[in-house]
Amino acid sequence: MTRTAIIGGGISGLTLALLLRDKGHSVRVFEASDQPGGAIRTTRSTDGWMAEWGPNTIIESSGRIKRLVSMLDLEERRRYPDPTAKKRYIVRDGKMVAVPGSAGGLLSTPLLSTSAKLSILREPFRRRSRNDHDETLADFVRRRLGDEFLKWPIDALVGGIYAGDPERLSVRHAFPRLALLEEQHGSLILGQIKGGVRRPPGSDEIPRNKAEIFSFDDGLQVLPDTISNRLGDAVSFLTPVKKITFINGNTGTGESADVHEQRTGDTSPTGAIPPADRPQRWRVQVDDPLEPPQDFDVLIYAGTSYGLSDIDFPETLAPLLDPVTEIPHPPVVSFTMGFRRSDIAHPLDGFGMLIPGIEGFPILGTLFTSTLFPNRAPDDGHVTLTTYMGGSRQPDIAGTDEEEQAGMVVSSLRKLLELSGEPRFRHRILWSRAIPQYETGFARFLTLMDRAEQEHPGFYLAGNYRTGISVGDTINAAFDLAERIHQEES
Ligand SMILES: Cc1cc2nc3c(=O)[nH]c(=O)nc-3n(C[C@H](O)[C@H](O)[C@H](O)COP(=O)(O)OP(=O)(O)OC[C@H]3O[C@@H](n4cnc5c(N)ncnc54)[C@H](O)[C@@H]3O)c2cc1C
Repeated sequence: MTRTAIIGGGISGLTLALLLRDKGHSVRVFEASDQPGGAIRTTRSTDGWMAEWGPNTIIESSGRIKRLVSMLDLEERRRYPDPTAKKRYIVRDGKMVAVPGSAGGLLSTPLLSTSAKLSILREPFRRRSRNDHDETLADFVRRRLGDEFLKWPIDALVGGIYAGDPERLSVRHAFPRLALLEEQHGSLILGQIKGGVRRPPGSDEIPRNKAEIFSFDDGLQVLPDTISNRLGDAVSFLTPVKKITFINGNTGTGESADVHEQRTGDTSPTGAIPPADRPQRWRVQVDDPLEPPQDFDVLIYAGTSYGLSDIDFPETLAPLLDPVTEIPHPPVVSFTMGFRRSDIAHPLDGFGMLIPGIEGFPILGTLFTSTLFPNRAPDDGHVTLTTYMGGSRQPDIAGTDEEEQAGMVVSSLRKLLELSGEPRFRHRILWSRAIPQYETGFARFLTLMDRAEQEHPGFYLAGNYRTGISVGDTINAAFDLAERIHQEES
């Protein structure tokens, strides 16, 4: 039986553990914190408020995500948003404007000026980019649709998804579908009309415009909690991994093992482990001197990219992984506040609002969380709103103190939603390193990660710093990787 160690009990590591166990591996998950889920965590107060720390919803972007929910018998507990929550707002000139749901609506929306609307008609005739060029999202949008598109809808969207900066994000890596639409159809508009990005044969991907979003009755934490419960003793909490060594020889005790940690001169010129020298075991040492090291056939790192620097890796791996720790993660504050419904004049009839930087607000946007899922506020006439601050746009704001931040959130909501009362519930979490930014030059990180795997058989890297930042991306990637590991290791 293949013995597999997984470092990190976020959704990537847990999904991998579940899938590999189903494929016959003996798995062990090492999680540094005291609970499963990583960025996914839910707080419920005794008086009926609910707040998510990180993600609020998962997009059902493939059949595999549905399959995971059904493998866990969670269908009954899955909650799709209230149908009234479809509308999305973007702020323009200090006012909330509903994002048009159709092409016709796009031509009449006050979100864009007449000249920006005309640029939509010109878009199919714009030149394509050179294929080899790692273009920023900002340059891509300016080239295809013009500056106004960039400053309002795109800047707002990027703040909402990445808490990022379109002038730095790589269109190819951060928004691959946009780049592919241009590559495959020569135009974003024509590409959409022709059915979007072509899916490979056999793909179970659900097109974005058809994919639904969901959560669970008690919030998103239901998902990692359920996986962790299924895995039982295979998940160890409060066990940060500190050191990895690889050993040759067939001993589980390490007595006659050839331990590789500080060797020089016995690797290939590229730093690869020569095939004959393929490690038989990965030795994992946790940050507890009383815990003996444990040996595994397969090692999966499913932590964060910056967390790689907390682990002492063998010397052929370290130079490949060290640069990966530099993937930027700007800070984000997530502030959930509860209000009396009657204190807000706006109908809150949608998913939420996004605010482009040019509008000058100190917040990135606000989700109407109890419109999405009514059970997030006590049912006696209350609502919750979750507001995000900081990101690449305003990293300094994330560093200000909580009261100052609360003041900024409330004053923004007063202007935008005509809020009159004070919050009756508050939950704030600072993510000092929130979401990995796939900026231009990201390909070099991918190359290093590929090399780390190719040159160290039995070693794998998983997580939101590699294969997409959404929870849906991480689940899809876990299915792909579990299959690959099963093929390669059995
Ligand atoms: C504020 C915020 C809002 C978001 N909103 C959304 C959203 O609405 N929708 C969406 O789809 N996505 C959203 N995301 C992104 C999404 O939540 C993450 O990308 C995803 O959950 C990452 O999962 P992961 O398992 O790859 O990493 P993580 O969740 O970061 O898990 C990594 C785990 O590894 C552990 N670890 C690290 N190093 C070690 C070590 N040495 N030893 C042991 N354990 C270790 C950590 O403790 C952690 O538990 C949001 C993220 C944030 C922060």
